[in-house]
Amino acid sequence: MTVFDQVAVEGHEQVLYGYDKVSGLKAIIAIHSTALGPALGGTRFFPYESENDALIDALRLSEGMSYKAAAAGLDLGGGKAVIIGDPRTDKSERLFRAYGRIVDSLQGRYITAEDVGTTTKDLDMVRRETRWALGNSVAEGGAGDPSPVTARGLYAAARAVSQFLWGDPDLADRRFVVQGVGKVGSAFVQLLVEARAEVLVADAYQPTLDAAIEKFGVETVDFESVHTVETDFFSPCALGAGLNQQTIPQLKCKAIVGSANNQLATEKDADRIADEGILYGPDFVVNAGGLINVYDELHGYSKLRAMHRVDAIFEATLKILETAKEQDTNPNAAAIHLARERMRDIGDLRRFRRSGDDRN
Ligand code: NAD
Repeated sequence: MTVFDQVAVEGHEQVLYGYDKVSGLKAIIAIHSTALGPALGGTRFFPYESENDALIDALRLSEGMSYKAAAAGLDLGGGKAVIIGDPRTDKSERLFRAYGRIVDSLQGRYITAEDVGTTTKDLDMVRRETRWALGNSVAEGGAGDPSPVTARGLYAAARAVSQFLWGDPDLADRRFVVQGVGKVGSAFVQLLVEARAEVLVADAYQPTLDAAIEKFGVETVDFESVHTVETDFFSPCALGAGLNQQTIPQLKCKAIVGSANNQLATEKDADRIADEGILYGPDFVVNAGGLINVYDELHGYSKLRAMHRVDAIFEATLKILETAKEQDTNPNAAAIHLARERMRDIGDLRRFRRSGDDRN
């Protein structure tokens, strides 16, 4: 498939290739939609095996960002950037500043932030060339690390699922298994332990697992069979595509709520999960806390306002679960439908407003 064929599949607005010969920068910025506002999404630094793999990732991730922002009710579109390279060896000030200039050339149509492989320090270099880079440190008046806020949103979503399934949002004595106790997973475990839930954890990296055991006194399960444990909640907080044709029939949980992006290997997997009688909290709805937090920086960061919006993930999740039930569809399909509807309705309004501005 040509680049245009691939872009046409999901209807992206724009794809920009950026190159700097001196630093070796190879970046792809994908703007999926600006219907609701500027396309916000982090910059992933990853040693993709091919340029096509990098393009596919940027296209897929940027589309997910559109739905995440729409589902959270933010005035934001969806975008994502990838830089092809090894984050351990290929980073330099020149590279990030060259990248910053490319971001700047879009004049705010795309706003970047951190993602896998990039840090606040890297973004500081990008920011020297453009103001369209968020995720400032707390010391600089920014929102800081979004991970604990993402965990707070997950907690709100888990309470909504509990309300929907059992008529009570209280998570005390509910049994969770958390897959991946990194930045988000460990903050989520903390909230669950405080709520007196029963928590089991798994992580592929032993030192991270040891830290969780020491900090929370939780029990562990083998990371390779984590999804087979009998629990109320399975919480994928590691990598994407973990819910697929092979793993779904092995699940023994009643609900899934986790932070990992793109948890479903394919959209069909949402039906497979529903067929197993398991309730799925769509990833892009339940993990929006970090995005909501960073979005608030656009308006001069207010922690109070941001937390208020993050806690509203409770209502957003409940609405999606109820809509899915009413429409006899799975929650993922219902969430995508609601997000697309919002992008269409409000996107049209914004176009109307702009043409009105032109007349005046
Ligand atoms: P992280 O790298 O800090 O943590 C991920 C953890 O998962 C690591 O400890 C790693 O060892 C572990 N892991 C990897 N593969 C595993 C496996 N097969 N089984 C068990 N453990 C495994 O990352 P994070 O920031 O906590 O993010 C976790 C997920 O949530 C990612 O998919 C990320 O894209 C997504 N996410 C994060 C945020 C955020 O605010 N950080 C926001 C939205 C979505």
